[in-house]
Amino acid sequence: MALPLLCVVSTIPFIHYNAYPRKVSIVMISKTNETSVMDQIIERAIEQNPHSSNLLKAFGPIVKRQRQLSESISMPELDYSHLDKEKLRAGIPVIQQMKMFSPDDPLNEIALSLASAVKEGMPKLAAEMDRLCEMIQNGKLQIAQYFIDKSGGENQAKEHWGNDLNVSPSNASFLLSLVARVLLERRRIESTEVLGAFEWEKGYCPVCGEFPSVALIEEKGGKRFLHCSSCGQDWRFTRVVCPYCEKEAQREMDYYYVENKTEESAFVCDQCKKYLVTLYRAGRLYSRDMDISAISLVHLDMIMQEKGFEPMVTCAWNVLK
Ligand SMILES: [Zn+2]
Ligand SMILES: [Zn+2]
Repeated sequence: MALPLLCVVSTIPFIHYNAYPRKVSIVMISKTNETSVMDQIIERAIEQNPHSSNLLKAFGPIVKRQRQLSESISMPELDYSHLDKEKLRAGIPVIQQMKMFSPDDPLNEIALSLASAVKEGMPKLAAEMDRLCEMIQNGKLQIAQYFIDKSGGENQAKEHWGNDLNVSPSNASFLLSLVARVLLERRRIESTEVLGAFEWEKGYCPVCGEFPSVALIEEKGGKRFLHCSSCGQDWRFTRVVCPYCEKEAQREMDYYYVENKTEESAFVCDQCKKYLVTLYRAGRLYSRDMDISAISLVHLDMIMQEKGFEPMVTCAWNVLK
């Protein structure tokens, strides 16, 4: 993609962003669950980011279905009472303090529903999704096993799925990672509700331990919030430290941005060579979904990966090689 790139290795002046009213709290970012709101968010993202429209149309139905499922599907109750705020303060996320997946989770129901959303957004995968659904329904594919394997690492899970399955392991893993988001999102909402306010000073997610996929800097005050695409958590993190390797900068970190698009940038770290797509809040009174925002900014992923930087976390939309 030919995009005019203005490489700016310096602070982006915040005075430009002060014009927008600071009205919507950060909490609203993850509370855009109503279908009509999600439809509006996706439509607006397509309008504002025509270069990402194919990707947004492909992922839109999936993200929408994930939000609906995590909000409404019936799941077994988990006990969060033993979660320890002192451990959180020491950097131990919720997922290391308790089991967030239950064997009684409605895995098949979620997977079948998401497979139909994948077919809607990505018709090329329809035959493969049909095969997966059949295997789920006749018990040949035990989804619970994936989550047991997942605790042994992604590679082990992929190896497992690569064996004697008549489907592409990457498509099976894709569907199951979508299922994981629904489960983790529900458990994230429940656990943070029980916890209330807690201290967290790490660059990885306080709930699921993943690194952020996208960041948002408020136009007024300039606070940086990181977003986890694995569970949907947002948390505040200092702007002068790299979330990945914790390198501290003297004044301000380095950012790249595309010419004439000063609301979108990519933070880069010269120590760990990771980047983090970063948005300056310009949504005014509109609701925002940070995963849709991240997908909208995939041109920045392309540019940064061409420059030899790596994303802090791999998402279905930012693996470009
Ligand atoms: Zn997370
Ligand atoms: Zn770093």
